[in-house]
Amino acid sequence: MADPKGVRLSKTGGGVNELKKKLVERIRETGPMTVADFMASCLYDPDDGYYATRPSIGGKGADFVTAPEVSQMFGELIGLWCAHEWDALGKPALNFIELGPGRGVLMQDAWRATQRIEGFHDAANIVFIETSAPLREEQGERVPLAEWGERLEDAPPGPSLIIANEFLDCLPIRQFMRGDTGWHEKLIGLDDADQLVFGLSAALPAADDDVREGAVREIAPGLDALIYEIEQRLHAAPGRALFIDYGYIAPEGADTLQALKRHTKVDPLEAPGEADLTAHVDFARVAHLAREAGLQVHGPMTQGVFLKALGIDLRVEMLTKANPSLGPRVAREAQRLTHEDEMGALFKVICLSSPDLPAPAGFF
Ligand code: SAH
Repeated sequence: MADPKGVRLSKTGGGVNELKKKLVERIRETGPMTVADFMASCLYDPDDGYYATRPSIGGKGADFVTAPEVSQMFGELIGLWCAHEWDALGKPALNFIELGPGRGVLMQDAWRATQRIEGFHDAANIVFIETSAPLREEQGERVPLAEWGERLEDAPPGPSLIIANEFLDCLPIRQFMRGDTGWHEKLIGLDDADQLVFGLSAALPAADDDVREGAVREIAPGLDALIYEIEQRLHAAPGRALFIDYGYIAPEGADTLQALKRHTKVDPLEAPGEADLTAHVDFARVAHLAREAGLQVHGPMTQGVFLKALGIDLRVEMLTKANPSLGPRVAREAQRLTHEDEMGALFKVICLSSPDLPAPAGFF
């Protein structure tokens, strides 16, 4: 279950923010930076980046809560989906890869739920792709069998099932805004008092279209590289990659950069590295890049519909039967994961597969 331990408090607590000083210095020397560069520094700076120093997922004092932290049913259903797809692949020895496993809760629940599926645990080699040292430690406590890599390329060759929940939203984005005469890139520069501020580049030599003034378009350059890696892997040996994240299917022109600290939205420029920084995922682009790369694409569909197709309602019934006092709680958790006013509609699911495989379970 979601477990409030593992909360790490921000170490700066009102003092000088070292990363901000570093960023101000860098902008003074080399000029305004893209939102993607800013995001990458905030998340991955080895000394002061959010994931390198103080990621805090899950409990009350944490910065944000994810689906596996809401309910054990999430990881259990994903685990059973994986075992089903392993069967569809012909039960090969395979890499069971998770990108950005956070505290390791999803895999812990997935592994427990599949223990009675004959042959699956012997066939599956758990590989965690994780850059954060403090999170690797927590993952090792929950999933002692795991091995780790920094990047997807580090996973051994062979058939793969790849899962990733709230991983794509960490990929740094560049942002472009439609001005009155054309497109500009959003940049981060300095004001007269040497504070970080958002600004716009000069007009870009981009096609002038009829998008309304003020509309924002976002591109995650890292997505191309990730889809390329997945494509290489899924063409070399059969497999699937299941991504779950919040995002949109058609861009709405909104600015989706968001900084979260203790469940509260904060100014992304205020205390760089102290808040989690994410952007909504452009699922149409994920699908487009994957199709261009020759992969099969199923979805995107909403998390609510997907989890219902995987049998979350039945799971609620089973858990309630086994322990009636838990009934109201698990029903509430299922509601949170699936209801369209909660996580059910904002979150989307997409599955990328090697060519020539049957459709994955849950997609129609
Ligand atoms: N999947 C987990 C955690 C989501 S938070 C959950 O659902 O609870 C994002 C996770 O991705 C963290 O574990 C973070 O350290 C990891 N991460 C972010 N960017 C990464 C990158 N470029 N490479 C590998 N891991 C990354």
